Amino acid sequence: MTHHLRFLVVTYPAQGHINPALQFAKRLAGTGADVTFVTTHSAHCKMANGSPPTSPNGVSISHAPFFDGYEDGFKPGDDVVHYLSELRRRGSKAISDLVVSAASEGRPYTCLVYTLLLPWAALAAEELGLPSILLWIQPATVFDIYYYYFHGYGDIITENSTKDPSSEESRTTLPGLPWKFTLRDLPSFMDAANTYSFAIPLFKEQFEIFDLKIKNPKILINTFDELEPEALKAIRELKMIGIGPLIPSAFLDEKDSSDTSFGGDLFLRSKDEDQNYIEWLNSKPEGSVVYVSFGSIAVLSRIQMEEIGKGLLDSGRPFLWVIREKAKKDDGEVEKLSCQEELEKVGKIVPWCCQVEVLSNSSLGCFVTHCGWNSTLESLVCGVPVVAFPQWTDQGTNAKLIEDVWGTGVRVRPDEEGMVGSEEIKRCLEIVMQGNGLMRSNAKKWKDLAREAAKDGGSSDRNLKEFVADVARGDHHIFLD
Ligand code: UDP
Repeated sequence: MTHHLRFLVVTYPAQGHINPALQFAKRLAGTGADVTFVTTHSAHCKMANGSPPTSPNGVSISHAPFFDGYEDGFKPGDDVVHYLSELRRRGSKAISDLVVSAASEGRPYTCLVYTLLLPWAALAAEELGLPSILLWIQPATVFDIYYYYFHGYGDIITENSTKDPSSEESRTTLPGLPWKFTLRDLPSFMDAANTYSFAIPLFKEQFEIFDLKIKNPKILINTFDELEPEALKAIRELKMIGIGPLIPSAFLDEKDSSDTSFGGDLFLRSKDEDQNYIEWLNSKPEGSVVYVSFGSIAVLSRIQMEEIGKGLLDSGRPFLWVIREKAKKDDGEVEKLSCQEELEKVGKIVPWCCQVEVLSNSSLGCFVTHCGWNSTLESLVCGVPVVAFPQWTDQGTNAKLIEDVWGTGVRVRPDEEGMVGSEEIKRCLEIVMQGNGLMRSNAKKWKDLAREAAKDGGSSDRNLKEFVADVARGDHHIFLD
């Protein structure tokens, strides 16, 4: 019934966007649809397994990368405003060209799926009369917060955020969400001190598209019904569809080894780079290792890194720590931490790893994470409790959900300067590793529920199939005039 459906899946060229978008593309292809995956040329070239990924049932996904004007993609220090405007201009044209040429070949696209920060993709589709749908790759709760920020609650949030954070008045309540949010629990772009001025206008534009261009909009969310039941229903005007967790199927189902890779590692320089971290993990007792990673974007200060190093040493447990290569000195050497030698005696430091594989290893006891949404979902799917160490964007909200709602971790308390000291890191590690086991049993509960949702007939599987059937009937997206 769905063999004639053709989807374009367009994503921003960052690891945390490509990973879930590519998984979603695979799930769509698994329903029998044709899928074309679109991101920038530089990201496409860096994706591991250069060959096109194959969906679980053997249907292949085609790739149509476009050039964003940056040979090597966006780099720290580049002008973000210029980058985003080039991405918009060239990305819109690429979408247009693809849609027009597919139609002229008699194989038109049925629907465009796009991820965060790309409202222009929906506008490009609209101009061509092509239905589109946003794939929101953060939790439903964060979507709700942005929605209410742009629908009557922006001033309250801004005002509350200037109040004493320990006071009751600083806590914001939002319709349909049973929690109170202080400034640290809200997306960092809402903080008056936020310096990333590009973000809010892009989110605003996205919500204006929902308000002005689409009747009863639907949004696909990388979450699952059981994980965020209230948040998925918190907005009457929109339908939020949980289709996650978007994680390679082999990590969701031990019996399924067909799909082990994200197929999108931007940082892996060669496929077998430093694979011996898995051997190293295998040599450690069950539940003993602390895994530390801050994702693909966040850069910690030198002093903060030293504190983490000291905290790890003081806690005396084996650890695997991902330190991305960025602080190269002129001679090409990576700048070492002052306690590097001692660290390497008890733990292992790598520039990148296959995180889901690491989290699935039975030696894992705790994940010190920046709470990026992918990392958060991966910790839940693998049943690993966490020390939540959020940095920016949605991570503060994710940390709140982890600590207060799902009970799978403890959140670090930074000092007045925003620094998390070694003592605090050690304290949190002890709570997770030696506590009463509640976090571990909660993590196990969410692991089972996540797998249940993703399997054949589970809530996310049913939701995805229903969405595809909607698209086939042509009634998932109705343009407003
Ligand atoms: N990741 C990985 N190896 C690493 C660090 C991260 O494979 O050494 C993956 C991780 O599994 C996740 C993604 O990179 O899927 C990071 O996404 P997330 O949303 O957690 O954070 P971001 O990088 O967007 O801040």
